[in-house]
Amino acid sequence: MNGRDAMLGANGKKPLVGLVGWRGMVGSVLMDRMEVEGDFDLIEPLFFSTSNAGGAAPRGDAPLADAYDLGALSRCDAIITCQGGDYTTEVFGRLRAEGWNGHWIDAASTLRMQGDAVIVLDPVNMDVIKAAMARGGRNWVGGNCTVSCMLMGVGALFKAGLVEWMSTQTYQAASGGGAQHMRELLTQYGALNGSVADLLADPKSAILDIDRQVLARQQAMLGTDESKQFGAVLGGSLIPWIDKDLGNGVTREEWKGMAETNKILGLGPDAVGGSDAAAIPVDGFCVRVGAMRCHSQALTFKLKRDVPVDEIEAMIAADNDWVKVVPNNREDTLRDLTPVAVTGTLTIPVGRIRKLAMGPDYVGAFTIGDQLLWGAAEPLRRMLRILIQA
Ligand code: NAP
Repeated sequence: MNGRDAMLGANGKKPLVGLVGWRGMVGSVLMDRMEVEGDFDLIEPLFFSTSNAGGAAPRGDAPLADAYDLGALSRCDAIITCQGGDYTTEVFGRLRAEGWNGHWIDAASTLRMQGDAVIVLDPVNMDVIKAAMARGGRNWVGGNCTVSCMLMGVGALFKAGLVEWMSTQTYQAASGGGAQHMRELLTQYGALNGSVADLLADPKSAILDIDRQVLARQQAMLGTDESKQFGAVLGGSLIPWIDKDLGNGVTREEWKGMAETNKILGLGPDAVGGSDAAAIPVDGFCVRVGAMRCHSQALTFKLKRDVPVDEIEAMIAADNDWVKVVPNNREDTLRDLTPVAVTGTLTIPVGRIRKLAMGPDYVGAFTIGDQLLWGAAEPLRRMLRILIQA
């Protein structure tokens, strides 16, 4: 691609779009969404595989291409990859070094903080995306799933300049780790259930006997293949550590909270093109829990001024088409503010909104998003659309 065409299909032909990682957790959801939204009508897809080149592709007659074949990749006008960071590290630099000038749309974190990469979340940062397109940007990266879901929910407060700082405590689902992690969680649950099936079937059995046997089975999983993906037992437990150790007591997942929030909003030194506006402090703990899908988070805001709760709710509700304010009562919360209610939907509920005991400027909220949709697949397919319709 040359010259003016930051856009795809500028020459009147359907763009050739390479899809890498389409059978993984994010990739499968992306395929579903592209199907539902008719995206395949606008492109000529070419499917790649890192493990099964020559095998059958999910659509069309062409066999799967080799995802490490730079020649095949460089034929594409755009490449969407959900294959993961190792793949991006291995392929992206070499492809660009060989002169490939297409659009790279990526779910992995590898390139996110690179100066010329935009973290795409168009309902929140369309202005940042458009500015980068006007400058000929070619690298588009989906944000961290908790950050994207959080900004879809409470972005209005940031956009209004109300947030002095935010603390977030997350409850992240097993699927955040990928397909193998989901399987491991379910296998663990099955093994735990199986270890006490006889006792469960007997209503007179002692609950402490059940508890002891479950714990013994959980402990027997440690260090075995049964806990290989997470490195700890998640079934019936939780893991207060996600991603790499940065060596300063902070996990990489926690670091992303502040770095990516500000980059998406175009604030602070990492903003694309730089920004004089100070970054907003964001910090907290990221915890893996035994949910299948959806990342949940409890948020604490220190606002710059006292804003009544009904005004906060109105601002949040008006921000985009997908956010939904859940009234802060038991019935609505149990119905609408759980991973089970949200999974598979694009709705981002924000509930439990209330002033906190620390003072009138302190506000709490709880939000949930299907991290495979707004947290991963959706911004990628929407970016493809933006490029096609530019
Ligand atoms: P994943 O499910 O592990 O899939 C990645 C690749 O693993 C697949 O494309 C597939 O490649 C291979 N694979 C091996 N065994 C598989 C199996 N049994 N089923 C399906 N695929 C298998 O990873 P993911 O969760 O989709 O994540 C992909 C990227 O998106 C990562 O960079 C991740 O950090 C990022 N991301 C993930 C989430 C999330 O919630 N999971 C959210 C945001 C961003 P081949 O077909 O080539 O063998």
